[in-house]
Amino acid sequence: MKYLIWLVVILAAIWAFKRSRRAVKPPAEKSTPPVTPSNMVGCAHCGLHLPQEEAVTGAKGFYCSTEHRAAALDRNPA
Ligand SMILES: [Zn+2]
Repeated sequence: MKYLIWLVVILAAIWAFKRSRRAVKPPAEKSTPPVTPSNMVGCAHCGLHLPQEEAVTGAKGFYCSTEHRAAALDRNPA
């Protein structure tokens, strides 16, 4: 009888664990947009999309090149 109680407790724990994981996952998939491997940003001057790590950072946003950052009369905030 003692083992039966433990079996019920363990099964309940597994069920609760699975339920909590299942309850968390679907809303996260729906609410967040599809995640791209690298975060894409648009050039604030010409609108070209490029990975954020390749973009030039300016005070007003991201740029595809330092020339476009200069053309937008922006400068590096760092
Ligand atoms: Zn550009």
